[in-house]
Amino acid sequence: MLDRLGSSLKDALKKLAGKTVVDRAAVEELVKDLQRALIQSDVNVKLVMNLSQAIKTRSLEEEPLKGMGVREHVLRIVYQELVGLMGPEVEVTLGQQTILMAGLQGSGKTTTTAKLARYFQRKGLRVAVICGDTFRPGAYQQISTLCQKINVPCFGDPNETDAVKIVTKGLKSVGQAEVLIIDTQGRHALEEGLIQEIVDLNTLSKATHRWLVIDAALGQQASEQARRFHQAIDIDGVIITKMDGTAKGGGALSAVAETKSGIVFIGSGETIEDLERFDPDGFISRLLG
Ligand code: GDP
Repeated sequence: MLDRLGSSLKDALKKLAGKTVVDRAAVEELVKDLQRALIQSDVNVKLVMNLSQAIKTRSLEEEPLKGMGVREHVLRIVYQELVGLMGPEVEVTLGQQTILMAGLQGSGKTTTTAKLARYFQRKGLRVAVICGDTFRPGAYQQISTLCQKINVPCFGDPNETDAVKIVTKGLKSVGQAEVLIIDTQGRHALEEGLIQEIVDLNTLSKATHRWLVIDAALGQQASEQARRFHQAIDIDGVIITKMDGTAKGGGALSAVAETKSGIVFIGSGETIEDLERFDPDGFISRLLG
């Protein structure tokens, strides 16, 4: 997503160099280039249209700041609007907390659970994991193996099919943990049982955070998934996985818009260390060079 988007934007902004007044034609051309780049990156059309409108209106109506040329004036607005598209910056606290993981099967939820365990462990916190994924065969094996590698206790029961029972027991057995991460079942699609279960797990665990894991390749379905999970458990952060791949990534931004939350982390590979904090400002600065 980002390389192409970055170079299209830089080209478009170059066209404004040396201009002394903000003229409508130049701004419209820039917005058109920007729209093309964002839509090619899988960003939802409605989001792109809102963003374009805001850039157009602000560029033409706002007075450039003192001493600012036309290019800098428009660049500043494009920058601010793109940062807005990424959602607000999400703070990650380093205290006592319970994190409930949400997302469909294959999104990378289990891997991300282990990555988060590693992240908080590196910050010096006592971490524990509960495997509430009773749907995918081998889920408990997968997460407990990952946790063993980093010496993080992992509670689960591969013979129990009721996730609420597992989490009830798990909450009692991991009393010492400062950060508790609960992996949940994913399934292939949004089904009634899935949503009800995650609602129950959220109530039971009194989760501090409910983070939605979204595959960067998801495209437009990200909207619907995010909306359903958000209605059910009030998602307060999004983790976009597989950003190391060829995926365009823009679809996942719909999840940010639907949940009115921000991107907490980015998954950038298959190993347990491949998790990065997301900083919208730094990200867009790099993009615009
Ligand atoms: P779950 O069904 O949502 O629990 O998904 P898994 O955690 O089992 O992940 C599904 C696949 O995606 C696995 O092969 C993971 O190794 C892979 N995966 C997860 N996160 C990333 C990532 O950030 N980058 C890459 N390249 N692969 C990932």
